[in-house]
Amino acid sequence: MLKQIVRGPLLIPMRGGFVQYHADGALAGDERGMLVFVGDWKELSSKVGVDFPSPRRSDGVMLPPFLDVHTHIPQHPIRGGFLDGVPPDVKEGRLLAGLARNVFPAEIQCNSEELSRRVVGEFHSDTLAHGVVGGAAYMTISAPATRIALTDLPSMWSVGLVLMNQNCPENLRTDEANLDLDVESLAAEFGRRFIVTDRFAVAVDSTLRRRGAALAARFGLRTQTHLNEQTSEKDFVEKRLYPNYASYTDVYRRDGLLEQECIVAHCVHMRNEEWKMLADSGAAVAHCPTSNLALGSGVMSLANVSEYQIPFAIATDIGASPTVSMLAEMGRFIAVHRGLATHEQALYRATLAPAEILNLDKELGQLAPGRPMSFIEVAFDTAAVTAEKIIASMLPADLDHPRSAVRRVTLAGKVAFESRA
Ligand SMILES: [Zn+2]
Repeated sequence: MLKQIVRGPLLIPMRGGFVQYHADGALAGDERGMLVFVGDWKELSSKVGVDFPSPRRSDGVMLPPFLDVHTHIPQHPIRGGFLDGVPPDVKEGRLLAGLARNVFPAEIQCNSEELSRRVVGEFHSDTLAHGVVGGAAYMTISAPATRIALTDLPSMWSVGLVLMNQNCPENLRTDEANLDLDVESLAAEFGRRFIVTDRFAVAVDSTLRRRGAALAARFGLRTQTHLNEQTSEKDFVEKRLYPNYASYTDVYRRDGLLEQECIVAHCVHMRNEEWKMLADSGAAVAHCPTSNLALGSGVMSLANVSEYQIPFAIATDIGASPTVSMLAEMGRFIAVHRGLATHEQALYRATLAPAEILNLDKELGQLAPGRPMSFIEVAFDTAAVTAEKIIASMLPADLDHPRSAVRRVTLAGKVAFESRA
Protein backbone atom coordinates (compact mmCIF):
# COMPACT_ATOMS: atom_id res chain seq x y z
CA MET A 1 0.00 0.00 0.00
CA LEU A 2 1.34 3.40 -0.96
CA LYS A 3 1.23 5.90 1.87
CA GLN A 4 3.16 8.93 0.63
CA ILE A 5 4.69 10.39 -2.50
CA VAL A 6 7.17 13.26 -2.60
CA ARG A 7 7.89 14.87 -5.95
CA GLY A 8 10.93 17.02 -6.72
CA PRO A 9 14.51 17.00 -7.95
CA LEU A 10 16.41 13.94 -6.76
CA LEU A 11 20.12 13.16 -6.31
CA ILE A 12 21.14 9.51 -5.87
CA PRO A 13 24.82 8.86 -5.04
CA MET A 14 26.18 5.71 -6.66
CA ARG A 15 29.15 3.46 -5.98
CA GLY A 16 32.20 4.85 -7.72
CA GLY A 17 31.36 8.41 -6.77
CA PHE A 18 28.99 9.61 -9.46
CA VAL A 19 25.46 10.81 -8.86
CA GLN A 20 22.24 9.95 -10.66
CA TYR A 21 20.10 13.06 -11.13
CA HIS A 22 16.33 13.19 -11.76
CA ALA A 23 15.18 16.76 -12.50
CA ASP A 24 11.54 15.84 -11.89
CA GLY A 25 11.91 12.88 -9.58
CA ALA A 26 9.72 11.12 -7.08
CA LEU A 27 9.99 8.98 -3.97
CA ALA A 28 7.05 6.79 -2.95
CA GLY A 29 6.82 4.98 0.38
CA ASP A 30 4.52 2.42 1.96
CA GLU A 31 2.88 2.33 5.39
CA ARG A 32 5.98 0.65 6.89
CA GLY A 33 8.13 3.61 5.82
CA MET A 34 9.88 1.63 3.07
CA LEU A 35 10.55 2.97 -0.43
CA VAL A 36 8.50 1.33 -3.17
CA PHE A 37 9.49 3.68 -5.99
CA VAL A 38 12.52 5.85 -6.75
CA GLY A 39 12.89 7.56 -10.11
CA ASP A 40 11.16 9.91 -12.56
CA TRP A 41 7.81 11.37 -11.62
CA LYS A 42 6.60 10.71 -15.16
CA GLU A 43 7.17 6.98 -14.76
CA LEU A 44 5.44 6.85 -11.38
CA SER A 45 2.46 8.96 -12.50
CA SER A 46 1.84 6.61 -15.43
CA LYS A 47 1.44 3.72 -12.96
CA VAL A 48 -0.65 5.29 -10.26
CA GLY A 49 -4.37 4.69 -9.82
CA VAL A 50 -7.08 7.04 -8.58
CA ASP A 51 -6.95 6.06 -4.91
CA PHE A 52 -3.42 7.30 -4.71
CA PRO A 53 -2.08 9.75 -2.09
CA SER A 54 -1.54 13.13 -3.74
CA PRO A 55 2.14 13.96 -4.06
CA ARG A 56 3.77 16.56 -1.85
CA ARG A 57 6.18 18.94 -3.57
CA SER A 58 9.62 18.55 -2.01
CA ASP A 59 11.12 21.49 -0.14
CA GLY A 60 14.39 21.44 -2.06
CA VAL A 61 16.45 18.74 -3.71
CA MET A 62 16.04 15.25 -2.22
CA LEU A 63 19.09 13.16 -1.33
CA PRO A 64 20.20 10.59 1.28
CA PRO A 65 20.92 11.92 4.80
CA PHE A 66 24.53 12.60 5.80
CA LEU A 67 26.73 10.43 8.01
CA ASP A 68 29.83 11.57 9.93
CA VAL A 69 32.37 8.79 10.52
CA HIS A 70 34.60 10.78 12.87
CA THR A 71 33.41 13.21 15.52
CA HIS A 72 33.88 13.84 19.25
CA ILE A 73 30.62 14.38 21.18
CA PRO A 74 32.20 15.91 24.33
CA GLN A 75 33.97 18.51 22.15
CA HIS A 76 30.70 19.75 20.65
CA PRO A 77 30.46 22.59 23.22
CA ILE A 78 33.98 23.84 22.23
CA ARG A 79 33.71 23.25 18.48
CA GLY A 80 36.01 25.59 16.61
CA GLY A 81 37.84 26.42 19.87
CA PHE A 82 40.40 23.59 19.75
CA LEU A 83 43.34 26.01 19.45
CA ASP A 84 42.03 28.90 21.57
CA GLY A 85 44.99 30.49 23.35
CA VAL A 86 47.55 28.11 21.77
CA PRO A 87 50.57 30.00 20.35
CA PRO A 88 51.48 29.20 16.73
CA ASP A 89 55.03 28.03 17.44
CA VAL A 90 54.44 25.84 20.49
CA LYS A 91 57.21 23.22 20.95
CA GLU A 92 55.07 20.04 21.20
CA GLY A 93 53.00 21.05 18.15
CA ARG A 94 49.54 22.64 18.10
CA LEU A 95 47.62 19.34 18.22
CA LEU A 96 49.09 18.19 21.53
CA ALA A 97 48.99 21.72 22.98
CA GLY A 98 45.31 22.21 22.00
CA LEU A 99 44.36 18.85 23.50
CA ALA A 100 45.95 19.77 26.84
CA ARG A 101 44.65 23.35 26.96
CA ASN A 102 41.11 23.08 25.59
CA VAL A 103 40.01 19.56 24.72
CA PHE A 104 40.84 17.53 27.81
CA PRO A 105 39.19 20.07 30.17
CA ALA A 106 36.02 19.90 28.01
CA GLU A 107 36.08 16.09 28.12
CA ILE A 108 36.50 16.06 31.92
CA GLN A 109 33.11 17.86 32.12
CA CYS A 110 31.52 14.65 30.83
CA ASN A 111 32.60 12.81 33.98
CA SER A 112 29.29 14.28 35.21
CA GLU A 113 26.31 12.26 33.97
CA GLU A 114 24.01 15.27 34.04
CA LEU A 115 26.35 17.28 31.83
CA SER A 116 26.92 14.33 29.52
CA ARG A 117 23.19 14.05 28.96
CA ARG A 118 22.96 17.72 28.06
CA VAL A 119 26.00 17.59 25.73
CA VAL A 120 24.64 14.50 23.96
CA GLY A 121 21.20 16.14 23.58
CA GLU A 122 22.66 19.30 22.03
CA PHE A 123 24.92 17.26 19.74
CA HIS A 124 21.91 15.27 18.57
CA SER A 125 19.69 18.27 17.77
CA ASP A 126 22.53 20.18 16.06
CA THR A 127 23.56 17.24 13.84
CA LEU A 128 19.96 16.41 12.93
CA ALA A 129 19.28 20.05 11.95
CA HIS A 130 22.20 19.71 9.50
CA GLY A 131 20.84 16.47 8.05
CA VAL A 132 23.47 14.29 9.79
CA VAL A 133 21.65 11.23 11.12
CA GLY A 134 24.42 8.88 12.21
CA GLY A 135 28.09 8.03 12.20
CA ALA A 136 30.93 7.00 14.47
CA ALA A 137 31.64 9.18 17.50
CA TYR A 138 34.06 9.28 20.41
CA MET A 139 32.62 9.83 23.87
CA THR A 140 35.09 9.94 26.81
CA ILE A 141 36.87 7.52 29.16
CA SER A 142 33.65 7.39 31.22
CA ALA A 143 31.56 4.22 30.77
CA PRO A 144 28.39 5.91 32.18
CA ALA A 145 28.83 8.82 29.72
CA THR A 146 29.31 6.36 26.86
CA ARG A 147 26.15 4.50 27.90
CA ILE A 148 24.22 7.81 27.93
CA ALA A 149 25.39 8.62 24.39
CA LEU A 150 24.48 5.15 23.09
CA THR A 151 21.08 5.30 24.80
CA ASP A 152 20.09 8.85 23.86
CA LEU A 153 21.33 8.85 20.24
CA PRO A 154 19.45 6.98 17.50
CA SER A 155 20.73 3.57 16.44
CA MET A 156 22.55 4.93 13.37
CA TRP A 157 25.13 6.40 15.74
CA SER A 158 28.01 4.22 16.96
CA VAL A 159 29.93 5.50 19.97
CA GLY A 160 33.26 4.66 21.59
CA LEU A 161 34.44 4.50 25.18
CA VAL A 162 37.86 6.16 24.88
CA LEU A 163 40.98 4.33 26.01
CA MET A 164 43.71 6.57 27.49
CA ASN A 165 46.36 5.87 30.11
CA GLN A 166 49.37 8.10 29.38
CA ASN A 167 50.16 11.70 28.44
CA CYS A 168 46.72 12.77 29.63
CA PRO A 169 45.25 14.23 32.85
CA GLU A 170 44.87 11.95 35.88
CA ASN A 171 41.05 12.28 35.88
CA LEU A 172 40.84 11.39 32.19
CA ARG A 173 42.31 7.90 32.38
CA THR A 174 40.60 4.65 31.54
CA ASP A 175 39.38 2.69 34.55
CA GLU A 176 41.62 -0.28 33.71
CA ALA A 177 40.45 -2.33 36.70
CA ASN A 178 36.87 -2.40 35.36
CA LEU A 179 37.58 -2.26 31.63
CA ASP A 180 36.64 -5.88 30.83
CA LEU A 181 33.34 -5.54 32.68
CA ASP A 182 32.55 -2.17 31.09
CA VAL A 183 33.24 -3.46 27.57
CA GLU A 184 31.31 -6.66 28.16
CA SER A 185 28.22 -4.86 29.43
CA LEU A 186 28.27 -2.13 26.74
CA ALA A 187 28.75 -4.78 24.04
CA ALA A 188 25.91 -6.88 25.48
CA GLU A 189 23.57 -3.90 25.51
CA PHE A 190 24.51 -2.13 22.27
CA GLY A 191 26.27 -4.72 20.11
CA ARG A 192 28.44 -3.34 17.30
CA ARG A 193 27.19 0.20 17.91
CA PHE A 194 29.76 0.16 20.68
CA ILE A 195 33.25 0.84 19.26
CA VAL A 196 36.52 0.04 21.02
CA THR A 197 38.26 3.40 20.82
CA ASP A 198 42.01 3.91 21.04
CA ARG A 199 42.53 7.68 21.50
CA PHE A 200 45.87 7.65 19.65
CA ALA A 201 49.30 6.15 20.19
CA VAL A 202 50.43 9.15 22.27
CA ALA A 203 47.76 8.55 24.92
CA VAL A 204 47.54 4.73 24.99
CA ASP A 205 50.33 2.28 25.81
CA SER A 206 50.75 -1.02 24.00
CA THR A 207 49.45 -3.09 26.91
CA LEU A 208 46.15 -1.23 27.02
CA ARG A 209 45.84 -1.15 23.21
CA ARG A 210 46.40 -4.91 22.96
CA ARG A 211 43.82 -5.46 25.66
CA GLY A 212 41.35 -3.27 23.75
CA ALA A 213 42.00 -5.12 20.49
CA ALA A 214 41.54 -8.49 22.21
CA LEU A 215 38.23 -7.35 23.73
CA ALA A 216 37.09 -6.11 20.31
CA ALA A 217 37.93 -9.52 18.80
CA ARG A 218 36.20 -11.35 21.66
CA PHE A 219 32.94 -9.42 21.36
CA GLY A 220 32.99 -8.92 17.57
CA LEU A 221 33.39 -5.12 17.84
CA ARG A 222 35.13 -2.71 15.53
CA THR A 223 37.81 -0.19 16.53
CA GLN A 224 38.65 3.46 15.82
CA THR A 225 41.65 5.70 16.37
CA HIS A 226 43.69 8.67 15.05
CA LEU A 227 46.82 8.30 12.92
CA ASN A 228 49.57 10.53 11.50
CA GLU A 229 47.79 13.83 11.99
CA GLN A 230 50.80 16.12 12.56
CA THR A 231 54.55 15.72 12.04
CA SER A 232 55.43 16.60 15.67
CA GLU A 233 52.96 13.93 16.84
CA LYS A 234 54.42 11.40 14.37
CA ASP A 235 57.97 12.14 15.59
CA PHE A 236 56.90 11.77 19.23
CA VAL A 237 55.26 8.41 18.51
CA GLU A 238 57.99 6.96 16.27
CA LYS A 239 61.14 8.32 17.93
CA ARG A 240 60.22 8.66 21.61
CA LEU A 241 57.31 6.36 22.47
CA TYR A 242 57.67 3.41 20.07
CA PRO A 243 61.25 3.32 18.71
CA ASN A 244 61.04 -0.45 18.17
CA TYR A 245 58.12 -0.26 15.75
CA ALA A 246 58.63 0.33 12.01
CA SER A 247 56.23 3.28 11.89
CA TYR A 248 53.26 4.96 13.58
CA THR A 249 50.91 2.71 11.58
CA ASP A 250 52.97 -0.33 12.57
CA VAL A 251 52.13 0.40 16.25
CA TYR A 252 48.45 -0.14 15.50
CA ARG A 253 49.13 -3.07 13.19
CA ARG A 254 51.35 -5.00 15.61
CA ASP A 255 49.09 -4.26 18.56
CA GLY A 256 46.13 -5.81 16.67
CA LEU A 257 43.99 -2.69 16.39
CA LEU A 258 43.83 -2.48 12.59
CA GLU A 259 42.40 -5.97 12.10
CA GLN A 260 39.09 -5.05 13.75
CA GLU A 261 37.61 -2.99 10.85
CA CYS A 262 39.35 0.04 12.26
CA ILE A 263 38.21 3.56 11.30
CA VAL A 264 41.43 5.55 11.20
CA ALA A 265 41.18 9.34 11.24
CA HIS A 266 43.45 11.78 9.36
CA CYS A 267 46.36 9.85 7.72
CA VAL A 268 48.00 13.11 6.63
CA HIS A 269 51.68 12.14 7.06
CA MET A 270 51.89 8.57 5.77
CA ARG A 271 54.80 6.73 4.15
CA ASN A 272 53.95 4.35 1.32
CA GLU A 273 54.49 1.29 3.50
CA GLU A 274 51.99 2.71 6.00
CA TRP A 275 49.33 3.09 3.30
CA LYS A 276 50.04 -0.51 2.31
CA MET A 277 49.58 -1.69 5.91
CA LEU A 278 46.22 0.05 6.07
CA ALA A 279 45.16 -1.45 2.75
CA ASP A 280 46.15 -4.95 3.86
CA SER A 281 44.30 -4.62 7.17
CA GLY A 282 40.83 -3.75 5.87
CA ALA A 283 40.80 -0.43 7.74
CA ALA A 284 38.84 2.59 6.49
CA VAL A 285 39.96 6.22 6.61
CA ALA A 286 38.02 9.17 8.08
CA HIS A 287 39.28 12.14 6.06
CA CYS A 288 38.81 15.42 7.94
CA PRO A 289 39.81 18.34 5.68
CA THR A 290 38.33 21.12 7.89
CA SER A 291 40.05 19.81 11.00
CA ASN A 292 43.35 19.28 9.17
CA LEU A 293 43.26 22.83 7.82
CA ALA A 294 42.19 24.39 11.15
CA LEU A 295 44.97 22.70 13.13
CA GLY A 296 47.58 23.24 10.39
CA SER A 297 48.06 19.49 9.98
CA GLY A 298 48.27 19.36 6.16
CA VAL A 299 46.20 17.62 3.50
CA MET A 300 45.64 13.87 3.21
CA SER A 301 46.74 12.50 -0.16
CA LEU A 302 43.74 11.68 -2.30
CA ALA A 303 46.09 10.01 -4.80
CA ASN A 304 47.45 7.61 -2.18
CA VAL A 305 44.15 6.64 -0.59
CA SER A 306 42.81 5.92 -4.10
CA GLU A 307 45.94 4.11 -5.27
CA TYR A 308 45.79 1.73 -2.31
CA GLN A 309 42.00 1.38 -2.72
CA ILE A 310 41.28 2.18 0.90
CA PRO A 311 37.63 2.97 1.67
CA PHE A 312 37.26 6.50 2.97
CA ALA A 313 34.59 9.01 3.93
CA ILE A 314 34.79 12.66 4.86
CA ALA A 315 34.18 13.64 8.49
CA THR A 316 34.07 16.75 10.68
CA ASP A 317 36.25 15.78 13.65
CA ILE A 318 34.27 18.10 15.95
CA GLY A 319 35.64 20.07 17.90
CA ALA A 320 38.60 20.79 15.58
CA SER A 321 35.92 21.81 13.07
CA PRO A 322 33.63 24.70 14.02
CA THR A 323 30.50 23.05 12.58
CA VAL A 324 28.76 19.67 12.36
CA SER A 325 27.67 20.55 8.79
CA MET A 326 28.66 17.88 6.27
CA LEU A 327 27.75 20.35 3.50
CA ALA A 328 30.54 22.59 4.86
CA GLU A 329 32.85 19.55 5.02
CA MET A 330 32.04 18.75 1.38
CA GLY A 331 32.91 22.35 0.48
CA ARG A 332 36.25 22.04 2.29
CA PHE A 333 36.98 18.67 0.66
CA ILE A 334 36.54 20.27 -2.75
CA ALA A 335 38.59 23.33 -1.73
CA VAL A 336 41.62 21.40 -0.44
CA HIS A 337 41.60 18.98 -3.40
CA ARG A 338 40.85 21.61 -6.04
CA GLY A 339 41.03 20.12 -9.52
CA LEU A 340 41.02 16.56 -8.14
CA ALA A 341 37.66 16.22 -6.37
CA THR A 342 34.25 16.75 -7.96
CA HIS A 343 31.05 17.79 -6.20
CA GLU A 344 29.54 14.41 -7.04
CA GLN A 345 32.46 12.67 -5.32
CA ALA A 346 32.03 14.94 -2.29
CA LEU A 347 28.37 13.93 -1.99
CA TYR A 348 29.28 10.24 -2.32
CA ARG A 349 31.92 10.58 0.42
CA ALA A 350 29.37 12.14 2.81
CA THR A 351 26.51 9.68 2.19
CA LEU A 352 27.01 6.28 0.58
CA ALA A 353 30.75 5.85 1.32
CA PRO A 354 30.26 6.33 5.10
CA ALA A 355 27.16 4.09 5.02
CA GLU A 356 29.30 1.34 3.48
CA ILE A 357 32.08 1.84 6.03
CA LEU A 358 29.56 1.72 8.90
CA ASN A 359 27.68 -1.27 7.41
CA LEU A 360 24.57 0.91 7.26
CA ASP A 361 24.19 0.77 3.47
CA LYS A 362 21.04 -1.34 3.68
CA GLU A 363 19.37 1.55 5.53
CA LEU A 364 21.15 4.71 4.43
CA GLY A 365 23.36 6.20 1.75
CA GLN A 366 21.37 5.21 -1.29
CA LEU A 367 17.77 5.65 -2.35
CA ALA A 368 16.31 2.43 -3.75
CA PRO A 369 13.07 0.42 -3.51
CA GLY A 370 13.07 -1.91 -0.50
CA ARG A 371 15.18 0.50 1.58
CA PRO A 372 13.79 2.75 4.32
CA MET A 373 12.29 6.02 3.04
CA SER A 374 15.07 8.10 4.65
CA PHE A 375 16.10 11.29 2.88
CA ILE A 376 16.72 14.97 3.36
CA GLU A 377 15.45 18.01 1.47
CA VAL A 378 18.03 20.73 0.87
CA ALA A 379 17.71 24.28 -0.50
CA PHE A 380 19.51 24.77 -3.82
CA ASP A 381 19.70 27.08 -6.83
CA THR A 382 16.76 26.10 -9.05
CA ALA A 383 18.58 27.57 -12.06
CA ALA A 384 21.22 24.81 -11.77
CA VAL A 385 20.59 21.95 -14.18
CA THR A 386 23.38 19.40 -13.61
CA ALA A 387 24.10 17.30 -10.51
CA GLU A 388 27.52 18.97 -10.22
CA LYS A 389 26.02 22.49 -10.22
CA ILE A 390 23.09 21.59 -7.95
CA ILE A 391 25.44 20.13 -5.35
CA ALA A 392 27.69 23.20 -5.64
CA SER A 393 24.68 25.44 -4.99
CA MET A 394 23.79 23.56 -1.76
CA LEU A 395 27.19 24.28 -0.21
CA PRO A 396 27.47 27.15 2.28
CA ALA A 397 29.38 30.27 1.19
CA ASP A 398 30.94 30.59 4.66
CA LEU A 399 32.35 27.14 5.46
CA ASP A 400 33.14 28.08 9.08
CA HIS A 401 29.73 29.56 9.95
CA PRO A 402 27.27 27.77 7.68
CA ARG A 403 23.53 28.28 7.95
CA SER A 404 21.93 24.92 7.44
CA ALA A 405 20.35 24.57 4.00
CA VAL A 406 18.59 21.40 5.21
CA ARG A 407 14.82 21.99 5.17
CA ARG A 408 13.52 18.61 6.25
CA VAL A 409 14.84 15.22 7.42
CA THR A 410 12.66 12.14 6.91
CA LEU A 411 13.64 8.83 8.50
CA ALA A 412 11.81 5.64 7.55
CA GLY A 413 8.85 7.67 6.26
CA LYS A 414 8.51 9.91 9.32
CA VAL A 415 9.57 13.56 9.58
CA ALA A 416 12.44 13.77 12.08
CA PHE A 417 13.30 17.44 11.55
CA GLU A 418 11.70 20.43 9.87
CA SER A 419 13.39 23.80 9.49
CA ARG A 420 11.46 26.77 10.82
CA ALA A 421 13.59 29.20 8.83
ZN1 LIG B 1 39.37 13.20 16.17
